[in-house]
Amino acid sequence: MNTVVAIDGPAASGKSTVARGVAQALKSIYVDSGSFYRGVTWWVLRAGIPAGDRAAVIRGLAGLRFEKYLSEQAVRYRVDGEDPGTAIRGEAVAERVSEIAAMPEVRNQVNRWLRETRELGPIVMEGRDIGSVVFPDTPYKFYLDADPAERARRRHAESIAREEGRDVAQVLESLRRRDTRDSGRAEAPLKVAPGAQVIDTTHRAIDEVIQAIVTQVVSWTASR
Ligand code: C5P
Repeated sequence: MNTVVAIDGPAASGKSTVARGVAQALKSIYVDSGSFYRGVTWWVLRAGIPAGDRAAVIRGLAGLRFEKYLSEQAVRYRVDGEDPGTAIRGEAVAERVSEIAAMPEVRNQVNRWLRETRELGPIVMEGRDIGSVVFPDTPYKFYLDADPAERARRRHAESIAREEGRDVAQVLESLRRRDTRDSGRAEAPLKVAPGAQVIDTTHRAIDEVIQAIVTQVVSWTASR
């Protein structure tokens, strides 16, 4: 059975960069589960379905074509034949994604798509509930965290690169709203999975965190 390394944590905790680095070091496939929820949200917005209209979202989801494929050792996808590209990273999607991701029917569907990626090879998957719900049986679970101010600073630097014109306070506010929704929802809330190793990335260099995880996975594998 292909191994799964689960890396969970809140927005801008360093998960993406770390998960990519770990995947590269372990010659595994990188899977960004948040991008799946963002892809569904992008499609909901584009289809003109009001995000709060749960029945319409569920109806639409039933007919949705979500095709996964491998590109440079990462899983990517097309939604109804289209690659949403960087549109999934914009503020419109970020503002609605938690609401869509809180719907149990959406989570069940996305979880099926995520579990299928394991057939492609050993994977490193980042998200909110990978160690707790998607792959609870994997022994390789990590939870990254960082101070909210540091997370806002990191996300702000990315939003400058996208020329979104928001200041740090606005970014912090948006992150807080998303954290509250993601941690407070009934279905698969953001939490530390039993057995996960917690790593605070606030004052740690990304490379150091990657190395720590890789060393841990290799030593756990050797002792199994
Ligand atoms: O990881 P990222 O910030 O891109 O995720 C976007 C959103 O997708 C999260 O705020 C959360 O609402 C949802 N998500 C989730 N479960 C996951 C990954 C992401 O609910 N495993």
